[in-house]
Amino acid sequence: MDYVLHLASPASPKDYLRHAILTLQVGSFGTYHALELARAHGSVFLMASTSEIYGDPHVSPQPESYWGNVNPVGPRSVYDESKRFSEALTMAFHRKYGVETRIARIFNTYGERMRIEDGRVLPNFMMQSLQNKPLTIYGDGSQTRSFCYVADTVDGLYRLLLSDQIEPVNLGNPEEVTILDVAREVIETTGSRIVSRPLPVDDPKQRKPDISRAMDWLGWSPRTSRGEGFQRLIPYFKSMLSTGSGKAKPSVETKVT
Ligand code: UDP
Repeated sequence: MDYVLHLASPASPKDYLRHAILTLQVGSFGTYHALELARAHGSVFLMASTSEIYGDPHVSPQPESYWGNVNPVGPRSVYDESKRFSEALTMAFHRKYGVETRIARIFNTYGERMRIEDGRVLPNFMMQSLQNKPLTIYGDGSQTRSFCYVADTVDGLYRLLLSDQIEPVNLGNPEEVTILDVAREVIETTGSRIVSRPLPVDDPKQRKPDISRAMDWLGWSPRTSRGEGFQRLIPYFKSMLSTGSGKAKPSVETKVT
């Protein structure tokens, strides 16, 4: 059995806002080509979708049956809408051509090997704290996220791939936390202080997965607590700091048609 896994896309808001058109291209043309490849070879196709398809949700926790609250013309829409389009295309290939498809809705994930300039909250807070710079809280920090350690996410993706589930499945850690509390937890272990910065446009106020499907269908739930996961990040980011590596490579503007 062959498998095509489509995980290509910027996922950090900093990256997809900078590479807006490329993000739309990879989530549309890229998904189309990857689906055609799976169809031509009779492969199972897995698409990495995102909690961003729920937008700024009015329902919490978010079950897969929730259709979301996305601003279709806001700056984040380049990511949200291309992932929503990817889901639609994936389902159409399944219905029209019988391609064996899987859709994983991945919530906030973290772990070693993130770039130090990734721009997402954990690399930012870790690097700021280790350099004794103030942690940049966007808005008042009352917005929530739920952070899943990468090894748990990978285990979920693998189980989904080997299952026969066509409907989307949320993969994330249901332990919800405010960004202010994340900053406090980081400061507890590595020190520093907090500074306030403006909240990005359309920043979702809450995000927490309902993982009943993943538990029932895949026998999956995350095993790594946030405390444990954060402890694993510290030596990694310390080593990045001492070698100065982990910075973004100069981006190559590739054309996807
Ligand atoms: N955030 C923050 N400070 C930072 C980076 C992010 O307060 O230095 C906030 C951001 O506004 C959002 C949350 O942390 O509410 C998670 O942001 P991230 O960019 O990691 O991913 P998102 O969940 O927004 O895709």
